[in-house]
Order: sequence, then C-alpha cells, then structure tokens
Amino acid sequence: MKPLAILGGTFDPVHIGHLCVAWEASELLDAEVRLMPARVPPHRPLPVATVEQRVAMLRAALTDQDRLGLDLRELERAGPSYTVDTLSELRAEQGDRPLVLLVGADAFAGLTTWHRWERLFELAHLGVFARPGFQSSLPAALEAAVSGRLADTDGNWRNHPAGRVLQLEVTPLEISATRVRHLLASGRSPRYLLPGRMFDMPGLLAAYRPDPE
Ligand code: ATP
Repeated sequence: MKPLAILGGTFDPVHIGHLCVAWEASELLDAEVRLMPARVPPHRPLPVATVEQRVAMLRAALTDQDRLGLDLRELERAGPSYTVDTLSELRAEQGDRPLVLLVGADAFAGLTTWHRWERLFELAHLGVFARPGFQSSLPAALEAAVSGRLADTDGNWRNHPAGRVLQLEVTPLEISATRVRHLLASGRSPRYLLPGRMFDMPGLLAAYRPDPE
C-alpha cells in the first residue's frame, strides 16, 4: 500500500503554494496525499473564513484531479486540532502503513511548540520542504531529535511506519495565504495565485473581499 501523507494547515484560503507542494510530495514519495484543514489552530489567530468557506474553497481547488484528497477529521472533532491526536487516530486506522506528516520549513522550525511534539516522530515520518522567504536555524532540542533520523526519499523509509525525516525538494513558490488575503482585501484579484475555479464560483472568496459581492 502507498504511504499516506498529510498536509495540515489553515487553508485560509488554500493557494497554489499548498497545492504544488502536495502534488510534488505525492510524486516524490509515491504517496496518497490528503489536505487536512484545522479547526482551531493551537498557535494561530482564528481564520478569516468560516469552516464552511474554507472547505468549499478546498473542494473547488481539488476538483478535476484524483491524486490529492481532502480529510475533514479535524473539523469534525471538537476542540483544538492537535496533530498528535490526528496522527494517533490515523495510526489506529491505518495499521503499519507508512504515514508522512508534510510540513514547510516555517512550520517545522516551530515544531517544539506543538503539543507532545516528540511523539510525532513515533507516529509518522516527517516530510519537510523549503518555504521560500523563510530561513531559520532549528532549536537545539529539534536538531537533536532530527539527528539520526534523516533519510533519503529513495531509501528504505517506506519499510517503516514512522520515525524518519525526509527532505523534499519541491518547486519554490513564494505564496502565502496572508498575501492572498491582503490582495483580496485591497480589492485586487490574485488570479494566478489560486486555482482559476475559485474565481468562477460566485461568493467563494467573499470572506476576504472589502465589499460584499
Ligand atoms: P498564512 O499566510 O495564513 O500563515 P500559509 O500560506 O502559511 O498561511 P498554512 O495553511 O498556514 O498557509 O500552511 C499550511 C502548510 O503549508 C504549512 O506546512 C506551510 O509551511 C505550507 N505552505 C504554505 N504555503 C507554502 C508555500 N508557498 N510553499 C511551501 N509550503 C507552503
């Protein structure tokens, strides 16, 4: 069975940067990839769009392809979206299937602030990719956790359910949801930063626009 890789995020809104990373990870890892929107991001301000709006945008973005899926379990669970709980649930469901938690370098650098972060390595592999515009060194505790876990994507990591850190070389795209929200709020149209379909559906981006559509 192919590994299962998860890209968690706020997706407020989903953009081409997310989709490109998820798509290329599915190729590099030969994995099933699911985008998993978070309900209450533990370390972040509340999203601008509602849960329903974020899901509608994700559904629109993911049409016409069958490689990337959507997993709504964190939205269906009450309380904060702790990744460790999500991965425990997936581990119980998926048996020994390799799981990969996909994270950008920005998210990875903050890993030690995540709830029970050390347990994440027991539950999944981590697939880490560069985030253009972001540079930072890792905290010592994370450096120590990573050392000895680094593995090549072509290697035998898929014989193990969890525990390796894979560096993924993906096409760098300096796009953020923050930037997309700013453009929309100032009345501009980030046409090529989001899938075209997201502009074709009336009201889909209304949460970010200055005036009601
Ligand atoms: P915001 O600007 O609101 O903080 P964001 O664009 O960073 O949002 P998130 O939903 O917070 O998007 O990101 C989810 C995951 O996707 C994180 O692991 C993040 O590193 C990664 N990611 C987001 N945008 C990119 C991008 N352009 N290139 C690579 N990784 C990205």
